[in-house]
Amino acid sequence: MTGPSIESAARGWCPSLLTPMESGDGLLVRVKPRAATLTAGQAEAVAQAARRYGNGMIEPTNRGHLQVRGLTDGTVDGFAAAMAGIGLAAAKPEAEAVRNVLADPLGPDDPAARFDSHALAHRLSAVLESDPAFHALPDKFGLLVDAGVALPLAGCTADIAIRADGNRRTVEPAGGDRVLRLPEDAVEDAVRRLLTAFLAWRKGAQDAAAISAPRRMKSMVAACGAHAVFEAAGLNGVRLAESGPPRAAEPPPAGFAPVRDAAWGYFAIAAPFGSMEADGLVALAGLSRRYADGTIRVTPWKSFVLWGVSPADAADLRTAAADIGLVAEPNDPRRRIVACAGRPRCASGHADTRADAAFLAAAGLPGTGVLHLSGCAKGCAHPAPAAVALVATPGGYNLVRNGRAGDAPGRTYLTREAAAEALAAPNPVVPIPAVCETPVRQLAGTVAE
Ligand code: SF4
Repeated sequence: MTGPSIESAARGWCPSLLTPMESGDGLLVRVKPRAATLTAGQAEAVAQAARRYGNGMIEPTNRGHLQVRGLTDGTVDGFAAAMAGIGLAAAKPEAEAVRNVLADPLGPDDPAARFDSHALAHRLSAVLESDPAFHALPDKFGLLVDAGVALPLAGCTADIAIRADGNRRTVEPAGGDRVLRLPEDAVEDAVRRLLTAFLAWRKGAQDAAAISAPRRMKSMVAACGAHAVFEAAGLNGVRLAESGPPRAAEPPPAGFAPVRDAAWGYFAIAAPFGSMEADGLVALAGLSRRYADGTIRVTPWKSFVLWGVSPADAADLRTAAADIGLVAEPNDPRRRIVACAGRPRCASGHADTRADAAFLAAAGLPGTGVLHLSGCAKGCAHPAPAAVALVATPGGYNLVRNGRAGDAPGRTYLTREAAAEALAAPNPVVPIPAVCETPVRQLAGTVAE
C-alpha cells in the first residue's frame, strides 16, 4: 500500500489506519479507539504492532487517536490486520476513514453524566461504518458526543456535536446558532438526516462549481444558514441560547483529580514531548491494571486518562508514571515541548531531538507557548507555528521564533547549550493554543488532525 503524495497531504488529506500518509520517517497511520477507550490488552497490542511494523513511536492526537509512525509499504498491511484483530478497525478503508466520533473520556463512569456517551458513540460509529452513503463524507468530518461533567470535552468542537440538556440531547451542527433538542432515541435519525443533507448540499456545490469541495458542516451553515440546514434535513432547530449549560474551556492538567460522588477519581497522564515509545504505552497499560480499571482513555488533549484511581493510590501512581518517563505533574515543562523522532530513529534527523528536549526541559523553560524540536526542516511533529522551533542541521540547531520548522531562522548553528541560553534571553513569545480544532496547515507527516 502506497501513501499519498506530499501534494495531496498539503491539500488537507487526512490519513487513517488503511490509508497511510508519507512522512519524513516513513508511513504514518492513525488508530481510532472506540468511544475514547482502549483496554490494557488493546494498548499492549498497539504497542507491539507499532514496534513490529513501525519505528515504535506513538503520538496521541487532538482527535483522540493514536498516530503510529515509521511504517513502510511492506508493513502497513500487517499493522492494519493487527488492529482489525483487536477490534480497532472497520472492515473497509472507506468506512475506517469516516469513523470519526470523539467521546468524552469517562462516559458512563462519570457519576454526574446525564447519558451514556460511550454507548451513543458506539451507535453513531456503527451508523458511519455500516451505511455506504456516508462513506462519501470527507475524511476530516467528525462527530462529538459529550456527556462529561467531571471531565467534559473542553475546547472541542466537531461538525455535529451531541450533548446533554437535562433529560434531552442537543444536536448542534458547527458554526450555527441553532440546535435540535431531542429525546435520545431520536438522535441517530437526526444525525442521519443532517449527514444526508450535508452530502446533498456538498454534491450540489461541487456540481455547480460554486464552492470547491466543501469538507465541513460549518461551510454549509455559513453558506445556507443554520435554519436552512435543519430545514434541508426535515428538522426544526431552536435558538442555541435557549439550550445547554456553559461549556468547559480548559482541558485537565496532568495528575489526579477526585470526582464528586465517586469513591475514586481519574489521573491524567501525558506523553513527554508529545509522543512516546511503544514501551511507554505498555507501561501505561500496566499502571491501569494496577491502579485503575484496566482501561486507558485517550483524550483530545494529546494525553491519556486512567479512571477508577483511589485517592490513596494517587501518590504512588504519580511516582510510578514519573519513573517510566511519563508526564504526571501539572507543571511539567515536557508538556510544552514537542519533539519528533529525530536521530537515530529517523534517517533524516540531524540530532537526537528527544535527548536534547530532555536537556532543555531540565535546564528550565522560560516563556510560554510551544517549543518544537525538529530533527530536520520537515517539521513532522508539529506542522503548525510554534513559539520557538529549534531545527537541527548538520551544523547545529537553527532557531525560528513564532514560526514553522521550515521558516527562515533568526539564529543559526546553535549547540543545545546555546539554544538553552537563547530561550532564557528575554524575548516575548506568542502563546499557541493547544486545544482541539486548532487550525493548522496540513503537511506531510502532520500530527495535527
Ligand atoms: S522532522 Fe524529524 S521525524 Fe520528520 S523527517 Fe525530519 S528528523 Fe525525521
